[in-house]
Amino acid sequence: MALQIALDFLKQQKQHLRKILILSDIPGVQVKDEKTFGKLKRLISESGLTELIFIGPVLGQLVSQFTLPITNYADTKSFLEDLKHINYSDATILIKGARDYHFEQISKRLVAKSHDTTLEINLNALEHNLNVYRGLLPPGVKLMAMVKAFSYGSGSFEIANLLQFNHVDYLTVAFTDEGVDLRNGGITLPIVVMSPDENAFDAIVQHRLEPEIYSFRILNSFIRYLKQHDLKGFPVHIKVDTGMHRLGFMPEEIEALLAILKNQEVIRVQSVFSHLASAGNVVDDKFTENQIQLLDEFTAQLKQELGYSFIRHIAATSGIALWPSAYFDMVRLGIGLYGIDLEREDLPVKEVSVLKTNVTQIKQLSATETIGYNRAGVIHRPSRIATIKIGYADGYDRRFGNGVGKMSINGQIVATVGNICMDMCMLDVTDIEVNEEDEVIVYPDIKEAALAIGTIPYELLVNISQRVKRVYFYE
Ligand SMILES: *Cc1c(COP(=O)(O)O)cnc(C)c1O
Repeated sequence: MALQIALDFLKQQKQHLRKILILSDIPGVQVKDEKTFGKLKRLISESGLTELIFIGPVLGQLVSQFTLPITNYADTKSFLEDLKHINYSDATILIKGARDYHFEQISKRLVAKSHDTTLEINLNALEHNLNVYRGLLPPGVKLMAMVKAFSYGSGSFEIANLLQFNHVDYLTVAFTDEGVDLRNGGITLPIVVMSPDENAFDAIVQHRLEPEIYSFRILNSFIRYLKQHDLKGFPVHIKVDTGMHRLGFMPEEIEALLAILKNQEVIRVQSVFSHLASAGNVVDDKFTENQIQLLDEFTAQLKQELGYSFIRHIAATSGIALWPSAYFDMVRLGIGLYGIDLEREDLPVKEVSVLKTNVTQIKQLSATETIGYNRAGVIHRPSRIATIKIGYADGYDRRFGNGVGKMSINGQIVATVGNICMDMCMLDVTDIEVNEEDEVIVYPDIKEAALAIGTIPYELLVNISQRVKRVYFYE
């Protein structure tokens, strides 16, 4: 099953024509197990793979049964010895190995070999976090996963597919295009689009996306559109503004809203929801309680007059963490899914993504030298300076320059020196052990990093630019 998910992923990867699967023997499974290998053959033939690497003696005996080019190695060690002679620069590679085969050594070597800045995404951590929040919910409360903004920077289809596999109830994106991409990738879960544009109604209907309706303008134009196209009962999500004052109908507009809703049959209210403005701030507890109550009253009246029920929801991650009274029928999990809970230290969430790069060059400079543009990097002692290939074009904010940004190399914390460049920056490594090509963790503590430049982890995550290669791990 895990292999199937992984192959689904691979099918969606369009960057490279070469698609390679590195696969180990399966413990306990022998050549004569036709059922297992029959399934494997079918999965591989449907996968769009172009090359196979088999590691282990059992798979080795099956090589002739596959039509794709196959290289076979007896064990992981002999593959690793061969690795430096192989060119993988233009390929998407899927690695799937039994524990005994220690394929983590292969992934480590491949990532290191690429010498790129990468965002490593641990899908097991994502699954774990999903279960942590599910554990807080009483039975019957549904879960909507927020996958807007490229799933907070960590991927679109890859994340959505895993969430679908884990049976979340809804996915939510900000824009229609994001929803269309997910549908094209084979995602069948209901998908809510929060900012549906009138120009996008065609795409919404064609791809069975469910729009958020937040104003009379969008409500009337969508009704008009559906009537023109002779559609009935199209699911929509009504947004109520209970205090956030961003999008949504005001509570006092309920009569006018009902007048329209009751007088048509082209849309059906699938859910009614609102958004908490300050769930994480104790000083605003009264305000939050009031928001919850406003949604409660609004939905009660709407349900009574519409004559049918719908899903009610208001809590995002901080609401889930702190406000059980805000759960209603569904919650909307965002940042917590990606391993960042800003409200509760006790929740055992795991960070999903790690931004990494390598040391490109190290130089020894005398105390009179300066570093980088405008000579802003002033040193007061003989210093060792490491240049790394991440800059503001990768999403590493320029405000991290001149010592504000802290990174980790071999478990030791170092600071930036000088201004951040477009594609590179420099670190003062005078006090630590480091060699060229060593791995650098860009945000050893993402909450602290965000604080240092006056922002929030959300912004750091979504700003990691698309040119940073995403590498997915799933065991
Ligand atoms: C982004 C968003 C969420 C998720 O918020 P988190 O704080 O990331 O959990 C929930 N609801 C709405 C309407 C959002 O825009």
